[in-house]
Amino acid sequence: EYGSMAGNNYIMRKRTEKIRIGDLHIGGDAPVSIQSMTNTDTRDSRATIDQIKRLEEAGCDIVRVAVPDNEAAVAIREIKRGIRIPLVADIHFDYRLALESIESGADKIRLNPGNIGGSERVRAVVEKAREREIPIRIGVNSGSVERHITEKYGGVTPQGMVESAIGHAAILEALGFYDILFSIKASSVPVTIAAYRLMSERSQYPLHIGVTEAGTVYRGTIKSSVGLGCLLAEGIGDTVRVSLTGDPVQEIHVAKEILKSLGIRRGGIEFISCPTCGRCRIDLISIANEVEERLQYIDRDVKVAIMGCAVNGPGEAREADIGIAGGDGEALLFKKGTIVRKIPRERIVEELISEIEKL
Ligand code: SF4
Repeated sequence: EYGSMAGNNYIMRKRTEKIRIGDLHIGGDAPVSIQSMTNTDTRDSRATIDQIKRLEEAGCDIVRVAVPDNEAAVAIREIKRGIRIPLVADIHFDYRLALESIESGADKIRLNPGNIGGSERVRAVVEKAREREIPIRIGVNSGSVERHITEKYGGVTPQGMVESAIGHAAILEALGFYDILFSIKASSVPVTIAAYRLMSERSQYPLHIGVTEAGTVYRGTIKSSVGLGCLLAEGIGDTVRVSLTGDPVQEIHVAKEILKSLGIRRGGIEFISCPTCGRCRIDLISIANEVEERLQYIDRDVKVAIMGCAVNGPGEAREADIGIAGGDGEALLFKKGTIVRKIPRERIVEELISEIEKL
């Protein structure tokens, strides 16, 4: 499945149903998409649009906004006018907010049909979603599993989470609605992995994968990388959300790196840098950080290497398109393993960036 991308023949992606959201698709042969959620007040459409623009610029494919009240649902109308990517309305419990969000132009809604109080309400939401051809994501979290299920399994278990999600889906299916995707997130990485594995065996619906409440940027990045990385390596997952307690733009950077490191997604700079050792005679760590920072928004397929010394650097990074190998107060610029010229320390970052831009 990923075979044509990045020479990756090692991961076989599980084939799921393909659904449409706005002008992109999730599942089937569609590329694994990246999503995030705003943390602005949705009613403040200006601030929300500004944040979504930053997410778009960082490479976010789909954005979700919380809809806690009617004013937020109505604001979707204006938000939609200011953004390019599909928008998901996140609804808890109140079906009227789902109806209003769809009216306002949401491209997808996230709602658990078992939680909105009765079949007539579900029917109303399903009719409207069908009319507008928008999918519904059923999102089960470890905290939201119904009591009768946790009692049956003696606590929150992967089996229970899957059973809960399938139960919600059955309500929609009974109404002939199949435009569904699932998420079943836990804050525990092993529980998340087990739940998605089980779900992937039991269902063909596309899967939105994520580790919920993963934590601050540092810890959350690690938990998400381990959890999502494991699932993606098994071919599970059609769209990803990295949850971080921080700026949502960072979620996009992390998600992109996870997909890139598995060769599932290309685009953007691939960055190689050596750990440095006793041979290094230059402040390589600050150079590497500065270069990485400056290259963040360059969306071009270039492999850049930042190596500590001229003895091993160019050779170790032979597969890089361009790179530097540190010397004493200077660095060698190399392309495809061949040395091009020397650059003094103070000009390293500038010259490297301008060379990359020229490629
Ligand atoms: Fe050490 Fe040079 Fe290898 Fe960096 S590239 S780890 S400095 S030998």
